[in-house]
Amino acid sequence: MKILVTGGAGFIGSHTCVELLEAGHDIVVVDNLVNSSRKAIEAVQGITGRKFPFYEYDLLDKAACKEIFEQNTIDAVIHFAGLKAVGESVEKPLLYYRNNLGSTLNLLELMRDYSVNSIVFSSSATVYGAEASIPYVESMPRGKATSPYGASKQMIEQMLEDQVVAEAGFSAVLLRYFNPIGAHESGEIGEDPNGIPNNLLPYVAQVASGKLEQIGVFGNDYPTRDGTGVRDYIHVTDLARGHVVALEKKAAQPGVHLYNLGAGRGYSVLEVVDAFSTAVGRKLPYKIMPRRAGDLPEYYADPVKAKNELGWQSEYDIGRMCADTWRWQQKHPNGFEEE
Ligand code: NAD
Ligand code: UDP
Repeated sequence: MKILVTGGAGFIGSHTCVELLEAGHDIVVVDNLVNSSRKAIEAVQGITGRKFPFYEYDLLDKAACKEIFEQNTIDAVIHFAGLKAVGESVEKPLLYYRNNLGSTLNLLELMRDYSVNSIVFSSSATVYGAEASIPYVESMPRGKATSPYGASKQMIEQMLEDQVVAEAGFSAVLLRYFNPIGAHESGEIGEDPNGIPNNLLPYVAQVASGKLEQIGVFGNDYPTRDGTGVRDYIHVTDLARGHVVALEKKAAQPGVHLYNLGAGRGYSVLEVVDAFSTAVGRKLPYKIMPRRAGDLPEYYADPVKAKNELGWQSEYDIGRMCADTWRWQQKHPNGFEEE
């Protein structure tokens, strides 16, 4: 298949490009590099030994993106492009709605105009909302969004569901990711946040490399086994492979196909710090801080549907996730910046 990958220079997108190419698919990538680097595209080409077209276009620029559909016969789209910082979305909701919804609308209109009938969308566990019981199961309804970011994911899920009703033959695979971490085993691509990281793993990795002094653990009085927040961490390569199988199994099947992509078990912040310390070979310093506004105590996926219907489940454990993150951090302490 020839797959258009939007946001393919980003963290999850770049790893998925590697897995798609290694599975024998052709890809075309579009990314405006607002949160990524052209170096990631070069690294994907280096890892796989394959070249592919890359368009540095903003999906909000529909006229420019039309060219991509003119110049390539696309079979399916994997849509990663979007802004993803929860806190920033609270401060700048209009930016998030404009970017995430506007780019998806342009993409869906172009897909309709060029008779492309399959999309795989990057959704998130956040769509279950704050009130959902754990583990999260696909049969649960979407809950009340906890941020404009989460609301944009819910709205896009709704848009895709509506499009499935309206367009005969349309297939929409909605993949709800839990907490993707890790990096490609080569250490040549990985998560490359701008400035001080908001997410746990890149923060821990920068403490390990000496760029940051100590880990701040946001709260140790949650009703969890050690009082710190529990999340379902999943290796980004496992996640990427989930896209390949979802596409291969469901792209040709009209309808809405909804799957959690998680490992199905949670780790606490302190367990992650321990696992990373093991990967590095020394105890990493941390300090208990106040809770972070908006954080939930604990959630993880029920991964059974993806296993039963796609034959997919995560393979890599937390030790491997930390070891691969650490390899990437050591090889590229400043991400793609310095190269
Ligand atoms: P990322 O920021 O690394 O990748 C997103 C990419 O989209 C970036 O390369 C960015 O430059 C590009 N982009 C953004 N707006 C664009 C636009 N208007 N036109 C063209 N390109 C644009 O993020 P990621 O972690 O790889 O996440 C990929 C997708 O998965 C996002 O939609 C995100 O919301 C979703 N997701 C991520 C997580 C996570 O924890 N990383 C969890 C759940 C869902
Ligand atoms: N966390 C933390 N310190 C940090 C960043 C995160 O203790 O510097 C905690 C956070 O409270 C949550 C978990 O780590 O319990 C995962 O947070 P992250 O931001 O990585 O992902 P989220 O699940 O919030 O999207």
